[in-house]
Amino acid sequence: MATVLCVLFPDPETGYPPQYARNSIPTIGAYPNGQTVPSPREPLGFKPGQLVGCVSGELGLRPYLEANGHRLVVVSDKDGANSAFDRHLPEADVVISQPFWPAYLTAERLAKAKNLRLALTAGIGSDHVDLSAAARHGVTVAEVTFSNSISVAEHVVMTVLSLVRNFLPAHDTADAGGWNIAECVSRSYDLEGMHFGTIGAGRIGQAVLRRLKPFDVYLHYHQRHRLPGQVERELGLTFHANPQSLVQVCDVVNLQVPLYPSTEHLFDDAMFSLMKRGSYLINTARGKLCDRDAVVRALQNGTLAGYGGDVWFPQPAPADHPWRTMPHQGMTPHISGASLSGQARYAAGTLEILQNFFEGKPIRSEYLIVDGGSLAGAGAASYGLT
Ligand code: NAD
Repeated sequence: MATVLCVLFPDPETGYPPQYARNSIPTIGAYPNGQTVPSPREPLGFKPGQLVGCVSGELGLRPYLEANGHRLVVVSDKDGANSAFDRHLPEADVVISQPFWPAYLTAERLAKAKNLRLALTAGIGSDHVDLSAAARHGVTVAEVTFSNSISVAEHVVMTVLSLVRNFLPAHDTADAGGWNIAECVSRSYDLEGMHFGTIGAGRIGQAVLRRLKPFDVYLHYHQRHRLPGQVERELGLTFHANPQSLVQVCDVVNLQVPLYPSTEHLFDDAMFSLMKRGSYLINTARGKLCDRDAVVRALQNGTLAGYGGDVWFPQPAPADHPWRTMPHQGMTPHISGASLSGQARYAAGTLEILQNFFEGKPIRSEYLIVDGGSLAGAGAASYGLT
């Protein structure tokens, strides 16, 4: 019998289950690169479209785990030395956590987790796990690659348009009973003709480029592996050998690289000093890719005309986090990858990974981040340990 410790975000304050806005969600058979969607053995412990990422939703895992003699412990209290997560961690064989409500598996916590064999990210982005320490302790780290990539790409496109068109302040004006057109449009531009660049053109970055192409913008990218020439020609991409070169020519910059030691604070005062006055920066990758206070300074001094996204550090962000109140921001709590559509796929992927793990079958390599003491699979392609 194994203990599976699952750390999930709290239920809606209005109660669970919520009333759903729609009766169903579309069925997606495969991702744009041909990768198949999660295919756990049925039955799923939930109906796609249900809110499964919160405590009462339990990612739909209880029926499978209990039918197979395992113990499921679901907690939400995850921070501080005496949190429920810390109290249960020494018993856990598997820890499941979502990036939206990350259970930070630091080196100190991993040292206490003597039974831990699998740290499973229900979603994408396993930077809340100290990957070097996980490798040293022989813990496998896996995530549900591609499960919510399109969910995030849609959020990026929405944020680009919201910032450039000054949508959020104009909406606030309508909400408040106002009608001052001049005020609403004095920061509003068309995206058409602008230069858009993404730093990181993997699954999400490429999906963003494809979605923005019909807006008649100039498309740029930087990432450590250059894309095939055919993709560059199809999308009309300009490749930049480093992020510094990209930010000097782009009006809108999107961050879509994983967080690991050498990408932390990629955007600091020095990087902002290279940007065009009035640039927009979108970050749905990870909060720590940016120096928190340098972002605030860049908005205050006009280097940035807008900053938007949904990732912060730490999460949940404290009430006095400066990104909540800085000017010209389009921030949300970390929601872009947690749409009900995305939840259905990452919950199914979590079940698939658990079934393989408990039945001694290999976990798909595209789901592996760390395995056998080093980066593996998708992790070897996208992360670094330094
Ligand atoms: P991906 O692995 O497909 O793409 C990331 C790309 O970044 C890779 O192609 C890699 O080569 C490149 N890269 C890595 N380090 C680099 C560096 N130092 N310089 C330049 N390029 C580098 O991942 P993805 O699915 O596109 O996701 C990207 C990130 O987005 C995730 O790591 C995660 O942090 C974040 N994410 C956020 C949400 C959300 O809900 N906001 C959901 C999913 C993923």
